Amino acid sequence: MRRHRYAKIVATVGPATNTPDMLKALFLAGVDTFRLNFSHGVQADHAKVHAAIRALEAEVGRPIGILQDLQGPKIRVGTLRDGRLDLVAGERIRFVLEGAEGDRRAIPLHHSEIFAAVVPGQDLLIDDGRVRVRVTGVENAAIDAEVVTAGVITNRKGVNLPGTLLDLSPLTEKDRADLAFGLDLGVDWVALSFVQTPSDVLEARGLIGDRAGIMSKIEKPQALDRIDDIIRLSDAVMVARGDLGVEIPHEDVPGRQKELIRACRLAVKPVVVATQMLDSMVAAPAPTRAEASDVATAIYDGADAVMLSAESATGRYPIEAVAMMDRIIRSVEGHKLYRSIVAASEPGEEETPPHAVATATAVLADAIQARAIVAYTTSGTTAARVARKRPAVPILALTPSRSTSRRLSLLWGTHSVHSDDVDSYEEMTSEAARHARDEGFAKANDMIVAAAGIPFHTIGNTNNIRVIQV
Ligand code: PGA
Ligand code: MN
Repeated sequence: MRRHRYAKIVATVGPATNTPDMLKALFLAGVDTFRLNFSHGVQADHAKVHAAIRALEAEVGRPIGILQDLQGPKIRVGTLRDGRLDLVAGERIRFVLEGAEGDRRAIPLHHSEIFAAVVPGQDLLIDDGRVRVRVTGVENAAIDAEVVTAGVITNRKGVNLPGTLLDLSPLTEKDRADLAFGLDLGVDWVALSFVQTPSDVLEARGLIGDRAGIMSKIEKPQALDRIDDIIRLSDAVMVARGDLGVEIPHEDVPGRQKELIRACRLAVKPVVVATQMLDSMVAAPAPTRAEASDVATAIYDGADAVMLSAESATGRYPIEAVAMMDRIIRSVEGHKLYRSIVAASEPGEEETPPHAVATATAVLADAIQARAIVAYTTSGTTAARVARKRPAVPILALTPSRSTSRRLSLLWGTHSVHSDDVDSYEEMTSEAARHARDEGFAKANDMIVAAAGIPFHTIGNTNNIRVIQV
């Protein structure tokens, strides 16, 4: 079975969708990669979903990606004495490092890193930015602040500190335990939340190695300052607009989205645009016009994938949301301006043989209107380099690595197949033709174009193009 679109769909699994039947319905509606959100739920439930997705994969005979999203150092207020606090503008409040049980108006904040990092004049944002307070004084175990934007605070609401680099590892103790659990399950991607610096990615790499791809979530302004290094050290990137939109002004998020997508395309790293894409479909069977336009914009921007969060995790219309995303993507990709818009943001050629060969493969395939570009790929980079060119001809990635075939379910325009290793040039040619036929890309006498690195089994040495008549 084959999808008739280039961009991919990531859907978060949650209480609304964590059964085998729902997972199958979501896959059939268009999901390419499932996200397990470790900010919610317990390990045993994630393990059940993981097993159900792997069973589904075997049933449908297609590689399906699984993304483990770690909670990261999300800062939260503690438990309030009365469970909630109504704050009015101008009022003075106090955050305390410990205790606070006795004081109705003290807000527990059990994160010493914050007390070490904040200075008077900085703002703390609570509950996705709904409440804003400005720091007026800092002691060892207390922060005094004045309420700027009024609102209600309830237990365990999130706290953001825009503009403050916190001395926090991107991996908390919970993350480390969840990560070990996820790697044992065999997840394909691990998403790191609240990445601040390139060394955050390196720290995760030390634990993950090549057992999963690392997806850095860009949701802190500090990460934007070091973005090129963060992208280079990551295997993929998520434009995490939920928290990013709290940390930087709303009006700056769309421009950052475009910059990030472009930088990732230049660096040959898949990029996912996430959060509130079809948000009103949490409660309604149709999106707003603005939401449909937002998904479309991400596709015109050239994103590899778009993501559903609450829409598919807890919403009332998860399947409809996936189907809607699928229809929007296909409509954009069929639109007469799509190719020229995406071509306009194409990065320049890189002067290395693997890049130039991949680019030439895409150009050649488009010129002869081949039915498929067959990319022989071990790590996935040959396919990713071809995809960077955003050819009209679909990419059929053949890989002897099952985990690569699953990771490629995130890559733009790529239909991946876990295939046997080939050892000779003749075998490559006949296998490319056979798979192109079996997967429904080509029939007898059609043209396909194959890209490969020869000798085989060497990573990243794309150096060969072959036009094949099936
Ligand atoms: P989250 O990340 O859903 O885990 O918060 C995505 C975002 O912040 O956009
Ligand atoms: Mn986030």
